[in-house]
Amino acid sequence: MAIQRTFSIIKPDATARNLTGAINKVIEEAGLRIVAQRRILMTEGQAKRFYEVHAERPFYGELVEFMTSGPVVVQVLEGEDAVAKYREVMGATNPEEAADGTIRKLYANSIGENSVHGSDSPENAEMEIRQFFSQADIIG
Ligand code: ATP
Ligand code: MG
Repeated sequence: MAIQRTFSIIKPDATARNLTGAINKVIEEAGLRIVAQRRILMTEGQAKRFYEVHAERPFYGELVEFMTSGPVVVQVLEGEDAVAKYREVMGATNPEEAADGTIRKLYANSIGENSVHGSDSPENAEMEIRQFFSQADIIG
């Protein structure tokens, strides 16, 4: 497996609790490198587009509202098998089901306010990175 990139978001529940550094520590200790990072306020349009696959789900409105409720940190992570590796480091969507030591087990408030996002496939990683970063922003 070659070096790969994935897209990460530190969500508003985590930035509100000043956990950016703590989460970055877990990411780096897992062997993933933060090669681009920016703190932003997502617009409603950006959040709707980002989570468009969930548009028909009952929690879509709540999810868009949450993602625009405060600052997020968008990131590009690089490493061996980065997409699957970061999903492992994040833990299950529902923190009650997340394994010990994962970011969501350590820090998530609930299934909705679950502290981080990570791409679920290399194809989606590429699209998600392109939504928030230009190639020049990414210093590998
Ligand atoms: P993400 O895409 O944010 O990395 P995920 O891939 O683990 O998370 P998805 O099924 O893609 O989970 O859901 C996207 C996001 O929608 C979740 O991270 C969570 O914030 C929210 N979400 C998912 N299921 C629920 C639910 N049942 N109730 C409220 N919010 C939910
Ligand atoms: Mg997902």
